[in-house]
Amino acid sequence: MTDSPSTLPSLADHPWPELAPGWVWLCGAGPGDPGLLTLHGLNALKQADVIVYDALVDSRMLAWAPQAEHIYAGKRGGKASAKQRDISLHLVDLAREGKRVLRLKGGDPFVFGRGGEEAQTLVQHGIPIRIIPGISAGIGGLAYAGIPVTHRDVNQSVTFVTGHDQTGNTPSSLNWKAIAEGAQVLVIYMGMKHAERICSALMEAGRPADEPAAVVTSATTPEQKVLETTLGTMVADIEASGMEPPAILCIGRSVLMRQVLDWQAMAIGLAPRNLDPLERGRPAEAS
Ligand code: SAH
Repeated sequence: MTDSPSTLPSLADHPWPELAPGWVWLCGAGPGDPGLLTLHGLNALKQADVIVYDALVDSRMLAWAPQAEHIYAGKRGGKASAKQRDISLHLVDLAREGKRVLRLKGGDPFVFGRGGEEAQTLVQHGIPIRIIPGISAGIGGLAYAGIPVTHRDVNQSVTFVTGHDQTGNTPSSLNWKAIAEGAQVLVIYMGMKHAERICSALMEAGRPADEPAAVVTSATTPEQKVLETTLGTMVADIEASGMEPPAILCIGRSVLMRQVLDWQAMAIGLAPRNLDPLERGRPAEAS
């Protein structure tokens, strides 16, 4: 390999931003695998005085910040809105104490993670912030399962849906009929608990029961499990599998691509199950 001229300094010399005292950085930690943290995230970990992290953050990552105090602010399920405000106000207090505060959240902080609310509260209290995006479970988690969230032969759009609202119920504001009719590929966060209601609503609105679907739990972690199923059999298959949240549900033909893209299985020597799961009958990139 020849050296190509580069305008970027070396990694160590790159002018990484400084996490200054009194600031709060809201950072996405990715879906699990610590290697999916961004470089800005790592830069933040190295400078923080205090890290407030969520249940879905792999705590092994905190070992990269031995200088910082680590505060767990996890909550699972949807019934903790008062506690959410407590977390935001705690961040305000820490910043006012002059700490360099890192708020580390699973996935991307602005995707179904209440990062927008926390950030707004900080700004309302005059606290300076920076947002560090992360790899969201609905994209990166599916990629670890060998499911491309878009594929030219399947979909030109993706619909991200939450299966929970603040009350813990299926969001009443969701128009399932419109989603069923309009969404090409559906990626559902927090959908395990209400999978039965979600699948029924989609089928009642006309989605075929034999539509391919997948459930990916603890994606990108050593505990990752993947269930390939259909819209009509998903609920029974989840029950039979004993799978537990956190889970991403994916509904759509992109799930079929796992038959050729299950790279974790191939890495341990298994052959791809089907080289042409979408039955194009031509090389993948021929138009
Ligand atoms: N901000 C996060 C989502 C937070 S909501 C993100 O961008 O990924 C929490 C939900 O995210 C979980 O209930 C689950 O649906 C999904 N999730 C997060 N991490 C996951 C993982 N490792 N595997 C499967 N689902 C995950």
